[in-house]
Amino acid sequence: MNIRLRLTLWYTAIFSLILLIFSLAVYVGLTRNLFSTVDNHLQREVGEILGNLNIEMDDDLEVANRENHAGNFELKYTPEEGVFWRIYDAAGHTLADPGFLDGATFEADITNLDFAQLENAMLANGTPIRLYTAPFVIENHSAGVVQVAESYRHIQDVQTQLVFLLLFGIPLTLLASSAGGWFLASSALDPIDGITRAAQKISAHDLHQRLDLNLPNDEVGRLASTFDQMLERLETSFEQQRRFIADASHEMRTPLTILKGDVDVALTRPRSAESYRQTLEMVNQTTDGLIALVQELLLLARSDSNHAAIKPERFNLVKLLTDLAGGLMPKAIKKHIALNLDIPEMLPLEGDKVKLRRLFMNLIDNAIKYSNPGDSVTVRAEVEDGYIRVDISDTGPGIDPEHLPHLFDRFYRVDKARSRVEVSGHSSGAGLGLSIVQWLANVHHGRVTVESTVGRGTTFTVWLPKKQDDTPFEYLEASGV
Ligand code: ADP
Repeated sequence: MNIRLRLTLWYTAIFSLILLIFSLAVYVGLTRNLFSTVDNHLQREVGEILGNLNIEMDDDLEVANRENHAGNFELKYTPEEGVFWRIYDAAGHTLADPGFLDGATFEADITNLDFAQLENAMLANGTPIRLYTAPFVIENHSAGVVQVAESYRHIQDVQTQLVFLLLFGIPLTLLASSAGGWFLASSALDPIDGITRAAQKISAHDLHQRLDLNLPNDEVGRLASTFDQMLERLETSFEQQRRFIADASHEMRTPLTILKGDVDVALTRPRSAESYRQTLEMVNQTTDGLIALVQELLLLARSDSNHAAIKPERFNLVKLLTDLAGGLMPKAIKKHIALNLDIPEMLPLEGDKVKLRRLFMNLIDNAIKYSNPGDSVTVRAEVEDGYIRVDISDTGPGIDPEHLPHLFDRFYRVDKARSRVEVSGHSSGAGLGLSIVQWLANVHHGRVTVESTVGRGTTFTVWLPKKQDDTPFEYLEASGV
């Protein structure tokens, strides 16, 4: 069942219920009103009769006890057209009776002198009447009962007409309201149908298409524009993925081709053990580069899918930097580069130790890799504005300003001609190192900036938020982290 039909059915069902309750209320209200008009009229008539009634009472006898009292009774009353009446004395004997109510069937007790009774009764000829039986008092003595009645056939007529009207009116109203409901549901849902049709035409291959429905800025209009924005994001993301795969394949093809070339050359003719050893060393070196590249790609793929959530722990950043510098020192010495540390004793930090090691490794490794013999690399760390600030500066060749804005892009290398898989110990040299650095800083709610002057050197600065609730330094020292 489609929404249009469901909405219309719900609307009609709710409206029917409201209509039914309303009709019932009208029927009951009108009937009560009409009966109370008749009842009031009857009460007025009783008042009229009693006002015109004159009964002489003996001083010592109650009217109820007297056998013969016809001579003491006098009534000057002209009833209104359609009003039936009669009077009984307290003993239930007729005092006055024009005969209107002869043979009428009713339930009222005419000997009841305590309270008035109102009921629906029937005349002998079948006319429905409203009957009012009211006791009356003379000189503080219960003197008798007056019965007044009038036909309520007109009320029955009104009731019949109302029922007739409702029986025909309700279905017609429901029919009209269902048609209205259908129309309303259709006009509300038509634009959604439009969105569905337009969306069906867009496949994964032409994500550049947009709905462009130009709808007003209402709920449906916002849905369409949200859909367009989502397409935009999808297209960007698809394009990024496509470029990433293309770049990654491209990066891998070169070392694989070199690898294949080396092996092919080695296999052209039988060679000495030393020659095979050299070939295997080259293969080993290239494979190391490939492994580093694949690791970087994997890391970035995880960063895209947000699978690499950080595992924060509290540790001393100084220790991490010292260890790293110690590990890279042989490489610096080999390249005749001075690696200096200018750091305090303690820098407690909460973060993912493994990931932060990777971050600083990439930066220090780059600084050594891109500097020339005789240059120096300095790692400086301090606390600034609630952040831990780490500067990795080198006195290397510097980076041309035109490259700076793209430095953190994936696969971006300043020197494109440089061998792609040049194993520098920790990075593949494929231009992924800095994008990994930026991502790792971001997941720690930090950031990384770069300043460089050609011929003078480069400084990368990492800002990492320092947690407020510092663990006592002694604890960190004692535990050796
Ligand atoms: P790669 O794997 O090529 O090192 P990175 O993303 O780490 O990739 O670096 C991107 C580019 O930035 C490098 O190709 C290099 O040209 C430049 N670069 C990075 N660090 C430095 C530095 N300290 N000094 C000069 N150039 C650098």
